[in-house]
Amino acid sequence: MKPQSFAYVATSTVEEAVRALGEAGEDAKVLAGGQSLVPMMNLRLARPSVLVDINPIADLAGVEVGPARLSLGALVRHRSLELGVSPGALGRLLREVAGHVAELPVRVRGSVGGSLAHADPAAEWCLVAVALGAEIELAGPGGRRSLGAEEFLEGPFSTALAADELVVAVHLPLRAGWAYGFAEHALTHGSFAQAGACVGLELLDGVVAGCRIAVMGTSGRAERVPAAEAAATGRPAEAAPDAAAEATRDALAPTGYGEVTSDYLRALAAATVRRATAAAATGTVEAR
Ligand SMILES: Cc1cc2nc3c(=O)[nH]c(=O)nc-3n(C[C@H](O)[C@H](O)[C@H](O)COP(=O)(O)OP(=O)(O)OC[C@H]3O[C@@H](n4cnc5c(N)ncnc54)[C@H](O)[C@@H]3O)c2cc1C
Repeated sequence: MKPQSFAYVATSTVEEAVRALGEAGEDAKVLAGGQSLVPMMNLRLARPSVLVDINPIADLAGVEVGPARLSLGALVRHRSLELGVSPGALGRLLREVAGHVAELPVRVRGSVGGSLAHADPAAEWCLVAVALGAEIELAGPGGRRSLGAEEFLEGPFSTALAADELVVAVHLPLRAGWAYGFAEHALTHGSFAQAGACVGLELLDGVVAGCRIAVMGTSGRAERVPAAEAAATGRPAEAAPDAAAEATRDALAPTGYGEVTSDYLRALAAATVRRATAAAATGTVEAR
């Protein structure tokens, strides 16, 4: 199928893009990599009257490594993250995760900002953003504002973005002494995962001093599992994976669909939490 006809506006600054969105009204859509939007337009599941192309905005493609955070412009492509944008434990995590996002042609065009704005419940970047406590920076007619990932991602394909706002950057905290792990279960490599987990562990003398665990596939959006975080904290690193997995299985009550039962989804979530926690427990630790 072909999309409904639409107007096209190319923008070269964030201010221009915000203005174009404001002028076009509710029906306008930002065009980033087009990897989700264009198929939806072709199927007429999305029928924007105006496309505001942000690809020419060079400012949105940058990466900044600061002392306390790694900032990714909204247009940083999955492929750039796969090739590596920063050293250390966080950089390694991003490289590994990116390799699980779709197939190469999609990774070359698809962007981290587009992925967050699209808010697919099975999107790896939404999972990572929630697990790590990312801040999402938005630009609108009133200026800039930042929201925590859990506040930004409201539900399946739903975010706190207003119609005249765009995502400009995602800021990931750089935590000294933390190590990270990721695991997912997908029917084929590169397809959307049925379940996944991302884990951060603060390791002090082989003991888990701090912990952040998020899963996807168990509800309409990536969610933290506080019971699993509590279960892993204070334990020797080698005991943390089983403790976190068991607590995940007890804490979650996902809704099944079709032949996929709630018990199956709970088991998948627990298994991915075990694998991701084990990867973090034996992984590179961010330099202090
Ligand atoms: C075959 C296939 C397999 C895929 N597999 C996976 C997968 O395994 N995991 C995964 O996570 N994703 C997967 N995707 C989706 C892919 O990662 C997309 O790139 C991503 O979801 C959207 O990024 P984009 O830059 O292409 O955004 P677009 O398609 O351009 O936009 C998506 C939506 O976000 C909005 N938007 C985009 N950028 C911004 C912005 N900066 N500010 C405000 N709104 C914005 C658009 O208006 C649109 O509503 C797959 C896609 C395909 C086609």
